[in-house]
Amino acid sequence: MKNEMQRNRRSLLKACGAVAGSMMVPALLAPVSAAAQGHAWRAQPERDEFILRGGYVLTMDPALGEFPVGDVHVRGGAIVAVAARLDLPNVRIVDASRTIVMPGFVDTHQHMWTSLLRGSLRGDDPTFGYFPSKARAGAVMTPEDIYHSVRFGLAQNLMSGITTVHDFCHNVRSPAHAQADLQALEDLGVRARFSYGRFGEPSSQPMDWQDVERVRQVILPKRPRLTLGVVVAPVTQKDGSMRASVLDDLSTSMAHAQAMQLPYTLHYGNQTHGIIDVMARHRWLNSDLLLVHPQGFTAAERQTLAASNVRISIAPAIELQYSTVRSGYTQFAEMEALHAQMGLSTDSSAASANANFFNEMRALLWAHKSRSDTNVKLSPRRLVELATIEGARTLNLADRTGSLSPGKRADIVLVRMDDLDIAPVFDPFNSLVYSAQPENVDTVIVDGRILRQGGRFLTFDVGEVVRDATRSAVRLRREAGLA
Ligand SMILES: [Zn+2]
Repeated sequence: MKNEMQRNRRSLLKACGAVAGSMMVPALLAPVSAAAQGHAWRAQPERDEFILRGGYVLTMDPALGEFPVGDVHVRGGAIVAVAARLDLPNVRIVDASRTIVMPGFVDTHQHMWTSLLRGSLRGDDPTFGYFPSKARAGAVMTPEDIYHSVRFGLAQNLMSGITTVHDFCHNVRSPAHAQADLQALEDLGVRARFSYGRFGEPSSQPMDWQDVERVRQVILPKRPRLTLGVVVAPVTQKDGSMRASVLDDLSTSMAHAQAMQLPYTLHYGNQTHGIIDVMARHRWLNSDLLLVHPQGFTAAERQTLAASNVRISIAPAIELQYSTVRSGYTQFAEMEALHAQMGLSTDSSAASANANFFNEMRALLWAHKSRSDTNVKLSPRRLVELATIEGARTLNLADRTGSLSPGKRADIVLVRMDDLDIAPVFDPFNSLVYSAQPENVDTVIVDGRILRQGGRFLTFDVGEVVRDATRSAVRLRREAGLA
Protein backbone atom coordinates (compact mmCIF):
# COMPACT_ATOMS: atom_id res chain seq x y z
CA MET A 1 0.00 0.00 0.00
CA LYS A 2 2.81 2.40 0.90
CA ASN A 3 4.70 1.78 -2.36
CA GLU A 4 1.51 2.25 -4.27
CA MET A 5 0.89 5.55 -2.51
CA GLN A 6 4.44 6.75 -3.19
CA ARG A 7 3.97 5.82 -6.81
CA ASN A 8 0.68 7.69 -6.86
CA ARG A 9 2.36 10.71 -5.33
CA ARG A 10 5.07 10.72 -8.00
CA SER A 11 2.55 10.31 -10.81
CA LEU A 12 0.55 13.02 -9.15
CA LEU A 13 3.41 15.48 -9.27
CA LYS A 14 3.56 14.81 -12.98
CA ALA A 15 -0.20 15.11 -13.34
CA CYS A 16 -0.25 18.46 -11.55
CA GLY A 17 2.38 19.74 -13.93
CA ALA A 18 0.20 18.57 -16.79
CA VAL A 19 -2.87 20.30 -15.37
CA ALA A 20 -0.96 23.54 -14.89
CA GLY A 21 0.36 23.29 -18.44
CA SER A 22 -3.07 22.80 -19.95
CA MET A 23 -4.80 25.73 -18.28
CA MET A 24 -7.06 27.49 -20.75
CA VAL A 25 -7.04 30.99 -19.32
CA PRO A 26 -3.44 31.99 -18.65
CA ALA A 27 -4.30 35.66 -18.25
CA LEU A 28 -6.48 34.83 -15.28
CA LEU A 29 -4.16 32.44 -13.62
CA ALA A 30 -2.62 33.00 -10.28
CA PRO A 31 0.47 30.83 -9.94
CA VAL A 32 -0.11 27.63 -8.00
CA SER A 33 2.74 27.12 -5.58
CA ALA A 34 4.94 24.08 -5.45
CA ALA A 35 3.35 23.17 -2.12
CA ALA A 36 -0.02 22.75 -3.78
CA GLN A 37 1.54 20.48 -6.33
CA GLY A 38 2.96 18.20 -3.65
CA HIS A 39 0.14 15.73 -4.18
CA ALA A 40 -1.03 14.17 -7.36
CA TRP A 41 -4.66 13.52 -8.09
CA ARG A 42 -5.18 9.93 -7.08
CA ALA A 43 -6.64 7.69 -9.68
CA GLN A 44 -10.02 6.36 -8.61
CA PRO A 45 -10.72 2.62 -8.94
CA GLU A 46 -12.71 1.44 -11.94
CA ARG A 47 -16.45 1.16 -11.49
CA ASP A 48 -18.06 -2.19 -12.08
CA GLU A 49 -21.63 -3.35 -12.57
CA PHE A 50 -23.47 -5.01 -9.69
CA ILE A 51 -26.83 -5.69 -8.10
CA LEU A 52 -27.34 -4.97 -4.41
CA ARG A 53 -29.52 -7.96 -3.54
CA GLY A 54 -32.24 -8.35 -0.96
CA GLY A 55 -31.91 -5.27 1.24
CA TYR A 56 -34.62 -3.18 2.90
CA VAL A 57 -34.56 -0.48 0.22
CA LEU A 58 -35.52 3.09 1.11
CA THR A 59 -35.41 4.92 -2.22
CA MET A 60 -36.44 8.34 -0.80
CA ASP A 61 -38.16 8.79 -4.16
CA PRO A 62 -41.95 9.12 -3.61
CA ALA A 63 -42.65 7.51 -6.97
CA LEU A 64 -40.80 4.34 -5.91
CA GLY A 65 -41.27 4.21 -2.14
CA GLU A 66 -39.77 1.38 -0.10
CA PHE A 67 -39.07 -2.30 -0.79
CA PRO A 68 -38.86 -4.46 2.37
CA VAL A 69 -36.90 -6.88 0.19
CA GLY A 70 -35.48 -5.24 -2.91
CA ASP A 71 -32.64 -5.05 -5.44
CA VAL A 72 -30.71 -2.07 -6.81
CA HIS A 73 -28.88 -2.34 -10.14
CA VAL A 74 -25.77 -0.13 -10.54
CA ARG A 75 -23.86 0.31 -13.80
CA GLY A 76 -21.34 2.91 -14.96
CA GLY A 77 -21.68 4.79 -11.69
CA ALA A 78 -25.43 5.25 -12.10
CA ILE A 79 -28.54 3.63 -10.67
CA VAL A 80 -30.16 1.67 -13.49
CA ALA A 81 -33.16 0.12 -11.75
CA VAL A 82 -34.75 -0.55 -8.37
CA ALA A 83 -37.32 -3.33 -7.91
CA ALA A 84 -38.41 -6.13 -5.61
CA ARG A 85 -36.31 -8.51 -7.72
CA LEU A 86 -33.91 -7.98 -10.62
CA ASP A 87 -32.51 -11.05 -12.39
CA LEU A 88 -29.81 -10.23 -14.90
CA PRO A 89 -27.35 -12.79 -16.22
CA ASN A 90 -23.64 -12.20 -15.63
CA VAL A 91 -24.06 -9.27 -13.26
CA ARG A 92 -22.19 -9.52 -9.97
CA ILE A 93 -24.43 -9.88 -6.91
CA VAL A 94 -23.57 -7.95 -3.73
CA ASP A 95 -25.45 -9.40 -0.77
CA ALA A 96 -27.42 -6.62 0.89
CA SER A 97 -29.68 -8.83 3.00
CA ARG A 98 -30.08 -7.77 6.64
CA THR A 99 -29.18 -4.20 5.69
CA ILE A 100 -31.05 -0.96 5.03
CA VAL A 101 -30.15 0.21 1.51
CA MET A 102 -30.55 3.97 1.22
CA PRO A 103 -29.09 7.09 -0.38
CA GLY A 104 -25.91 8.45 1.20
CA PHE A 105 -26.34 11.40 3.52
CA VAL A 106 -25.94 14.91 2.11
CA ASP A 107 -24.15 17.29 4.50
CA THR A 108 -25.09 20.83 3.51
CA HIS A 109 -22.22 22.61 5.31
CA GLN A 110 -19.01 21.42 6.89
CA HIS A 111 -15.71 23.24 7.35
CA MET A 112 -13.47 20.35 6.37
CA TRP A 113 -10.26 22.30 7.08
CA THR A 114 -11.08 22.34 10.81
CA SER A 115 -11.40 18.53 11.17
CA LEU A 116 -7.98 17.96 12.69
CA LEU A 117 -8.67 20.48 15.48
CA ARG A 118 -10.74 17.80 17.18
CA GLY A 119 -9.22 17.12 20.59
CA SER A 120 -7.68 20.61 20.74
CA LEU A 121 -10.82 22.60 21.49
CA ARG A 122 -12.33 23.41 24.87
CA GLY A 123 -15.99 24.15 24.17
CA ASP A 124 -16.73 27.88 24.21
CA ASP A 125 -13.70 28.87 26.32
CA PRO A 126 -12.73 32.47 25.39
CA THR A 127 -9.11 31.49 24.69
CA PHE A 128 -9.14 27.79 23.82
CA GLY A 129 -12.70 27.31 22.49
CA TYR A 130 -13.73 26.68 18.88
CA PHE A 131 -13.74 30.24 17.55
CA PRO A 132 -10.43 31.56 18.99
CA SER A 133 -8.59 28.27 18.40
CA LYS A 134 -9.86 28.04 14.83
CA ALA A 135 -8.63 31.57 14.13
CA ARG A 136 -5.13 30.94 15.53
CA ALA A 137 -4.76 27.54 13.88
CA GLY A 138 -6.09 28.74 10.53
CA ALA A 139 -3.48 31.49 10.39
CA VAL A 140 -0.59 29.03 10.47
CA MET A 141 -2.04 26.14 8.47
CA THR A 142 -0.07 25.14 5.39
CA PRO A 143 -1.64 23.60 2.26
CA GLU A 144 -0.28 20.28 3.52
CA ASP A 145 -2.20 20.72 6.81
CA ILE A 146 -5.37 21.54 4.84
CA TYR A 147 -4.94 18.39 2.76
CA HIS A 148 -4.46 16.24 5.87
CA SER A 149 -7.41 17.83 7.67
CA VAL A 150 -9.86 17.54 4.78
CA ARG A 151 -8.88 13.95 4.07
CA PHE A 152 -9.20 13.07 7.78
CA GLY A 153 -12.64 14.67 7.99
CA LEU A 154 -13.85 13.01 4.81
CA ALA A 155 -12.86 9.59 6.12
CA GLN A 156 -15.02 10.27 9.20
CA ASN A 157 -17.84 11.41 6.94
CA LEU A 158 -17.71 8.18 4.94
CA MET A 159 -17.79 6.12 8.15
CA SER A 160 -21.02 7.90 9.02
CA GLY A 161 -22.57 7.36 5.57
CA ILE A 162 -22.08 10.96 4.33
CA THR A 163 -21.42 10.67 0.59
CA THR A 164 -21.93 14.34 -0.37
CA VAL A 165 -20.51 17.29 1.54
CA HIS A 166 -20.69 21.01 1.02
CA ASP A 167 -17.13 21.92 1.99
CA PHE A 168 -17.34 25.53 3.21
CA CYS A 169 -13.71 26.63 3.21
CA HIS A 170 -13.18 29.91 5.03
CA ASN A 171 -9.45 29.42 5.18
CA VAL A 172 -8.28 29.85 1.59
CA ARG A 173 -5.14 31.84 2.27
CA SER A 174 -3.58 31.13 -1.14
CA PRO A 175 -4.34 29.23 -4.36
CA ALA A 176 -2.25 26.41 -2.91
CA HIS A 177 -4.63 26.11 0.06
CA ALA A 178 -7.61 25.85 -2.30
CA GLN A 179 -5.81 23.31 -4.43
CA ALA A 180 -4.94 21.16 -1.42
CA ASP A 181 -8.57 21.14 -0.23
CA LEU A 182 -9.93 20.26 -3.67
CA GLN A 183 -7.36 17.56 -4.07
CA ALA A 184 -8.38 15.87 -0.83
CA LEU A 185 -12.03 15.94 -1.98
CA GLU A 186 -11.03 14.29 -5.23
CA ASP A 187 -8.64 11.78 -3.66
CA LEU A 188 -11.18 10.44 -1.16
CA GLY A 189 -13.72 9.85 -3.92
CA VAL A 190 -16.63 11.82 -2.40
CA ARG A 191 -19.21 14.08 -4.02
CA ALA A 192 -18.79 17.70 -2.94
CA ARG A 193 -19.50 21.33 -3.45
CA PHE A 194 -16.35 23.31 -2.64
CA SER A 195 -17.19 26.83 -1.50
CA TYR A 196 -14.23 29.08 -2.03
CA GLY A 197 -13.79 31.57 0.81
CA ARG A 198 -10.98 33.59 2.25
CA PHE A 199 -9.35 33.58 5.65
CA GLY A 200 -11.68 34.53 8.48
CA GLU A 201 -15.12 36.03 8.96
CA PRO A 202 -15.04 38.96 8.40
CA SER A 203 -11.86 38.92 6.40
CA SER A 204 -9.30 41.61 5.73
CA GLN A 205 -7.94 39.50 2.91
CA PRO A 206 -9.37 40.28 -0.54
CA MET A 207 -11.03 37.42 -2.39
CA ASP A 208 -8.80 35.97 -5.12
CA TRP A 209 -11.36 35.98 -7.92
CA GLN A 210 -8.71 35.03 -10.47
CA ASP A 211 -8.12 31.81 -8.59
CA VAL A 212 -11.85 31.16 -8.25
CA GLU A 213 -11.97 31.43 -12.04
CA ARG A 214 -8.97 29.11 -12.38
CA VAL A 215 -10.75 26.49 -10.30
CA ARG A 216 -13.99 26.96 -12.20
CA GLN A 217 -12.43 26.71 -15.64
CA VAL A 218 -9.54 24.35 -15.17
CA ILE A 219 -10.13 21.99 -12.30
CA LEU A 220 -13.84 21.38 -12.12
CA PRO A 221 -14.73 20.33 -15.66
CA LYS A 222 -12.38 17.38 -15.21
CA ARG A 223 -13.78 16.42 -11.80
CA PRO A 224 -17.48 15.63 -12.29
CA ARG A 225 -18.08 14.78 -8.63
CA LEU A 226 -17.10 18.32 -7.62
CA THR A 227 -19.07 21.55 -7.96
CA LEU A 228 -18.07 25.05 -6.96
CA GLY A 229 -19.55 27.87 -4.89
CA VAL A 230 -18.27 30.88 -2.98
CA VAL A 231 -18.44 32.10 0.59
CA VAL A 232 -19.61 35.63 1.32
CA ALA A 233 -18.80 36.90 4.80
CA PRO A 234 -20.11 40.42 5.45
CA VAL A 235 -20.83 41.78 8.93
CA THR A 236 -23.51 44.23 9.96
CA GLN A 237 -23.49 46.85 12.70
CA LYS A 238 -25.49 46.58 15.91
CA ASP A 239 -28.46 48.42 14.34
CA GLY A 240 -28.53 45.99 11.40
CA SER A 241 -27.05 48.46 8.93
CA MET A 242 -23.90 47.80 6.92
CA ARG A 243 -20.83 50.01 6.63
CA ALA A 244 -20.26 51.34 3.10
CA SER A 245 -16.93 49.52 2.71
CA VAL A 246 -18.53 46.20 3.74
CA LEU A 247 -21.41 46.74 1.32
CA ASP A 248 -18.92 47.53 -1.46
CA ASP A 249 -17.07 44.31 -0.76
CA LEU A 250 -20.31 42.30 -0.68
CA SER A 251 -21.48 43.93 -3.92
CA THR A 252 -18.20 42.95 -5.59
CA SER A 253 -18.58 39.38 -4.35
CA MET A 254 -22.16 39.16 -5.58
CA ALA A 255 -21.26 40.57 -8.99
CA HIS A 256 -18.50 37.97 -9.42
CA ALA A 257 -20.62 35.08 -8.11
CA GLN A 258 -23.54 35.93 -10.36
CA ALA A 259 -21.33 36.52 -13.42
CA MET A 260 -19.73 33.10 -12.86
CA GLN A 261 -23.13 31.54 -12.08
CA LEU A 262 -21.86 30.21 -8.75
CA PRO A 263 -24.02 29.59 -5.67
CA TYR A 264 -23.06 31.57 -2.56
CA THR A 265 -23.18 30.74 1.13
CA LEU A 266 -23.44 32.91 4.21
CA HIS A 267 -23.31 32.20 7.95
CA TYR A 268 -26.20 33.83 9.77
CA GLY A 269 -25.57 34.96 13.37
CA ASN A 270 -25.19 37.86 15.75
CA GLN A 271 -22.73 39.53 13.39
CA THR A 272 -25.16 39.48 10.47
CA HIS A 273 -28.47 40.66 11.89
CA GLY A 274 -30.09 42.87 9.29
CA ILE A 275 -28.34 41.15 6.38
CA ILE A 276 -31.61 39.71 5.03
CA ASP A 277 -33.01 43.21 4.49
CA VAL A 278 -29.80 44.35 2.82
CA MET A 279 -29.77 41.34 0.49
CA ALA A 280 -33.47 41.65 -0.29
CA ARG A 281 -33.01 45.32 -1.31
CA HIS A 282 -30.25 44.29 -3.75
CA ARG A 283 -32.21 41.30 -5.08
CA TRP A 284 -29.61 38.83 -3.87
CA LEU A 285 -32.10 36.46 -2.23
CA ASN A 286 -32.81 33.42 -4.40
CA SER A 287 -32.19 29.68 -4.65
CA ASP A 288 -28.45 30.25 -5.19
CA LEU A 289 -28.11 31.54 -1.63
CA LEU A 290 -27.50 29.01 1.15
CA LEU A 291 -28.06 30.61 4.54
CA VAL A 292 -26.51 28.67 7.43
CA HIS A 293 -28.06 28.56 10.93
CA PRO A 294 -31.77 29.46 11.06
CA GLN A 295 -31.58 31.12 14.47
CA GLY A 296 -32.76 34.59 15.41
CA PHE A 297 -34.83 35.37 12.28
CA THR A 298 -37.79 37.72 12.71
CA ALA A 299 -41.20 36.61 11.40
CA ALA A 300 -40.87 39.05 8.48
CA GLU A 301 -37.40 37.70 7.63
CA ARG A 302 -38.71 34.14 7.61
CA GLN A 303 -41.45 35.11 5.18
CA THR A 304 -38.94 36.86 2.92
CA LEU A 305 -36.53 33.90 2.94
CA ALA A 306 -39.22 31.32 2.18
CA ALA A 307 -40.82 33.45 -0.54
CA SER A 308 -37.37 33.98 -2.15
CA ASN A 309 -36.64 30.23 -2.15
CA VAL A 310 -33.41 30.76 -0.19
CA ARG A 311 -31.83 27.48 0.90
CA ILE A 312 -31.32 26.85 4.64
CA SER A 313 -28.65 24.71 6.29
CA ILE A 314 -29.43 23.54 9.83
CA ALA A 315 -26.50 22.30 11.95
CA PRO A 316 -28.56 20.85 14.83
CA ALA A 317 -25.83 19.72 17.24
CA ILE A 318 -23.76 22.90 16.93
CA GLU A 319 -26.82 25.16 17.09
CA LEU A 320 -27.73 23.64 20.47
CA GLN A 321 -24.22 24.28 21.79
CA TYR A 322 -23.70 27.78 20.40
CA SER A 323 -27.21 29.19 20.72
CA THR A 324 -25.97 32.28 22.57
CA VAL A 325 -23.80 33.46 19.65
CA ARG A 326 -26.71 33.02 17.27
CA SER A 327 -29.74 34.41 19.10
CA GLY A 328 -31.59 31.37 20.30
CA TYR A 329 -33.12 28.14 19.17
CA THR A 330 -33.15 26.55 15.73
CA GLN A 331 -36.25 27.77 13.89
CA PHE A 332 -36.93 24.48 12.14
CA ALA A 333 -40.64 24.49 13.02
CA GLU A 334 -41.15 28.02 11.73
CA MET A 335 -39.32 27.40 8.46
CA GLU A 336 -40.96 23.99 7.97
CA ALA A 337 -44.40 25.60 8.33
CA LEU A 338 -43.41 27.93 5.47
CA HIS A 339 -42.19 24.97 3.34
CA ALA A 340 -38.67 26.40 3.20
CA GLN A 341 -36.01 24.31 1.48
CA MET A 342 -33.79 22.91 4.28
CA GLY A 343 -31.05 20.35 4.78
CA LEU A 344 -28.91 19.17 7.69
CA SER A 345 -25.22 19.76 8.35
CA THR A 346 -22.33 18.93 10.65
CA ASP A 347 -20.69 22.40 10.57
CA SER A 348 -17.37 21.38 12.14
CA SER A 349 -16.64 17.85 13.26
CA ALA A 350 -14.02 19.35 15.59
CA ALA A 351 -16.59 21.50 17.39
CA SER A 352 -19.27 18.80 17.61
CA ALA A 353 -16.60 16.17 18.43
CA ASN A 354 -17.62 14.01 15.50
CA ALA A 355 -19.03 13.77 12.01
CA ASN A 356 -22.00 11.64 12.96
CA PHE A 357 -25.07 12.28 10.80
CA PHE A 358 -27.27 10.00 12.89
CA ASN A 359 -26.53 12.35 15.79
CA GLU A 360 -27.50 15.34 13.63
CA MET A 361 -30.92 13.80 12.97
CA ARG A 362 -31.32 13.04 16.70
CA ALA A 363 -30.17 16.52 17.74
CA LEU A 364 -32.80 18.16 15.55
CA LEU A 365 -35.46 15.76 16.86
CA TRP A 366 -34.55 16.46 20.49
CA ALA A 367 -34.31 20.23 19.96
CA HIS A 368 -37.70 20.18 18.25
CA LYS A 369 -39.32 17.93 20.87
CA SER A 370 -38.05 20.16 23.66
CA ARG A 371 -40.23 23.00 22.38
CA SER A 372 -43.74 23.25 23.77
CA ASP A 373 -44.72 26.23 21.59
CA THR A 374 -45.21 24.49 18.24
CA ASN A 375 -47.52 21.90 16.70
CA VAL A 376 -45.32 21.31 13.66
CA LYS A 377 -44.70 17.58 13.22
CA LEU A 378 -41.25 16.06 12.80
CA SER A 379 -41.27 12.33 12.07
CA PRO A 380 -38.33 9.93 11.68
CA ARG A 381 -39.21 9.65 7.98
CA ARG A 382 -39.01 13.45 7.61
CA LEU A 383 -35.63 13.47 9.37
CA VAL A 384 -34.25 10.89 6.92
CA GLU A 385 -35.64 13.00 4.06
CA LEU A 386 -33.89 16.08 5.46
CA ALA A 387 -30.64 14.11 5.72
CA THR A 388 -30.79 12.82 2.13
CA ILE A 389 -33.06 14.13 -0.65
CA GLU A 390 -33.75 17.49 1.00
CA GLY A 391 -30.02 18.02 1.48
CA ALA A 392 -29.51 17.34 -2.22
CA ARG A 393 -32.27 19.83 -3.11
CA THR A 394 -30.75 22.37 -0.72
CA LEU A 395 -27.45 22.15 -2.63
CA ASN A 396 -29.24 22.08 -6.02
CA LEU A 397 -27.80 18.59 -6.59
CA ALA A 398 -31.06 16.60 -6.60
CA ASP A 399 -30.64 15.87 -10.31
CA ARG A 400 -27.78 13.52 -9.42
CA THR A 401 -27.99 12.41 -5.78
CA GLY A 402 -30.19 12.23 -2.67
CA SER A 403 -32.47 9.36 -3.72
CA LEU A 404 -32.21 5.92 -5.31
CA SER A 405 -33.91 7.00 -8.53
CA PRO A 406 -32.92 5.38 -11.82
CA GLY A 407 -30.66 7.76 -13.74
CA LYS A 408 -29.11 9.35 -10.66
CA ARG A 409 -25.53 8.66 -9.66
CA ALA A 410 -25.11 5.68 -7.36
CA ASP A 411 -24.42 7.25 -3.94
CA ILE A 412 -25.66 4.50 -1.65
CA VAL A 413 -25.08 3.27 1.89
CA LEU A 414 -25.92 -0.06 3.51
CA VAL A 415 -26.72 0.02 7.24
CA ARG A 416 -26.64 -3.32 9.07
CA MET A 417 -29.91 -4.21 10.79
CA ASP A 418 -28.63 -7.08 12.96
CA ASP A 419 -25.99 -5.28 15.03
CA LEU A 420 -26.40 -5.19 18.79
CA ASP A 421 -27.18 -1.47 18.94
CA ILE A 422 -29.83 -1.35 16.19
CA ALA A 423 -31.57 -4.77 16.11
CA PRO A 424 -34.37 -5.65 15.85
CA VAL A 425 -35.46 -3.35 13.01
CA PHE A 426 -39.17 -3.16 12.15
CA ASP A 427 -39.50 0.44 10.94
CA PRO A 428 -36.18 1.41 9.31
CA PHE A 429 -36.85 5.16 9.56
CA ASN A 430 -37.38 4.80 13.29
CA SER A 431 -34.25 2.70 13.72
CA LEU A 432 -32.07 5.06 11.67
CA VAL A 433 -33.11 8.04 13.76
CA TYR A 434 -33.34 6.52 17.24
CA SER A 435 -30.72 3.75 17.21
CA ALA A 436 -28.22 3.79 14.34
CA GLN A 437 -24.53 4.62 14.80
CA PRO A 438 -21.73 5.06 12.27
CA GLU A 439 -20.43 1.59 13.20
CA ASN A 440 -23.62 0.11 11.67
CA VAL A 441 -22.71 1.56 8.25
CA ASP A 442 -21.38 -1.50 6.47
CA THR A 443 -20.95 -0.31 2.87
CA VAL A 444 -20.52 3.12 1.31
CA ILE A 445 -20.78 3.64 -2.45
CA VAL A 446 -20.11 6.98 -4.17
CA ASP A 447 -20.63 7.44 -7.90
CA GLY A 448 -20.86 3.67 -8.26
CA ARG A 449 -17.52 2.99 -6.53
CA ILE A 450 -17.50 0.92 -3.36
CA LEU A 451 -15.29 2.95 -1.02
CA ARG A 452 -16.05 1.09 2.21
CA GLN A 453 -17.31 -2.44 2.78
CA GLY A 454 -17.57 -4.65 5.84
CA GLY A 455 -16.59 -1.61 7.87
CA ARG A 456 -13.22 -1.26 6.04
CA PHE A 457 -12.02 1.40 3.64
CA LEU A 458 -11.07 -0.12 0.29
CA THR A 459 -9.51 2.81 -1.57
CA PHE A 460 -7.13 4.49 0.87
CA ASP A 461 -4.98 3.71 3.88
CA VAL A 462 -6.94 5.05 6.86
CA GLY A 463 -3.91 4.55 9.13
CA GLU A 464 -1.92 6.97 6.98
CA VAL A 465 -4.81 9.46 7.00
CA VAL A 466 -4.93 9.42 10.81
CA ARG A 467 -1.12 9.60 11.19
CA ASP A 468 -0.83 12.55 8.79
CA ALA A 469 -3.68 14.43 10.49
CA THR A 470 -2.21 13.78 13.93
CA ARG A 471 1.23 15.03 12.84
CA SER A 472 -0.31 18.26 11.55
CA ALA A 473 -2.43 18.60 14.71
CA VAL A 474 0.59 18.22 16.99
CA ARG A 475 2.45 20.95 15.12
CA LEU A 476 -0.58 23.26 15.08
CA ARG A 477 -1.09 22.87 18.83
CA ARG A 478 2.47 24.08 19.32
CA GLU A 479 2.53 26.85 16.72
CA ALA A 480 -1.00 28.18 17.34
CA GLY A 481 -0.89 27.82 21.13
CA LEU A 482 -3.91 25.54 21.25
CA ALA A 483 -2.85 23.60 24.31
ZN1 LIG B 1 -20.32 26.89 9.84
